[in-house]
Amino acid sequence: MGFILSKIIEFFTKSRNNFKIIILGMQNAGKTTILYRLSLGTLVKTTPTIGSNVEELTYNNVKLQAWDLGGQESTRSVWDVYYMNTDAIVYVIDSHDDENFEESKAQFHKLLSHPNLKSTLIVIFANKQDLPGAKTVDKLIHDYEFDKIQSHIWHIQSCSALKGEGMITGIKWLSEQLVFRGKNNFPNNPYLVNDKEMLKPSKIHDKKYCLSQGLLR
Ligand code: GDP
Repeated sequence: MGFILSKIIEFFTKSRNNFKIIILGMQNAGKTTILYRLSLGTLVKTTPTIGSNVEELTYNNVKLQAWDLGGQESTRSVWDVYYMNTDAIVYVIDSHDDENFEESKAQFHKLLSHPNLKSTLIVIFANKQDLPGAKTVDKLIHDYEFDKIQSHIWHIQSCSALKGEGMITGIKWLSEQLVFRGKNNFPNNPYLVNDKEMLKPSKIHDKKYCLSQGLLR
């Protein structure tokens, strides 16, 4: 009995350093390029993802198992098979793409209400900032209504996977938050977020806290 109890306590108190993240977004947003930039450190010529790519990333001893799920319409319908036990979502936006904006926004907000994603952290990569006319982070926050999010902790990071800029900053924020949660036995119930000084809603919605201003502009 004592042994079982100690195992249960150990399970709930040990700090984790192994996390599952899923990389989502419209087709062509740059998900696969970001994944391989982060895992291999180089630019990889990509082909549309059918099914999923998975890579293990390590940042400061934090292991991230990263799933890149294809963004085609047919693939999006099976995204939720992968949601179970997800610690964080990396949502990739093509900041230059107006055509798919409404669909991308709808997909993003749909994620927020999925029961298996209730307590996930969210990093939004505002990708393709190298392209002239790419929307700024401020414009994306406004257009996607990120500043109205009440249910999740989020962070937006401008980046260019092509140039290899910005992604590490986003992953650094993510790994620090994941470790903080692990160490503090962060609850699965997002409403208990308010118990944590560092994650109080006033700060969640404080731009200074959520937002890394663009590296490129
Ligand atoms: P996915 O469908 O979301 O996985 O998108 P991919 O990673 O396959 O990228 C789609 C296309 O966008 C490819 O031609 C990439 O080279 C290109 N791409 C990805 N990231 C960037 C970026 O930051 N800037 C520019 N200009 N092109 C990018």
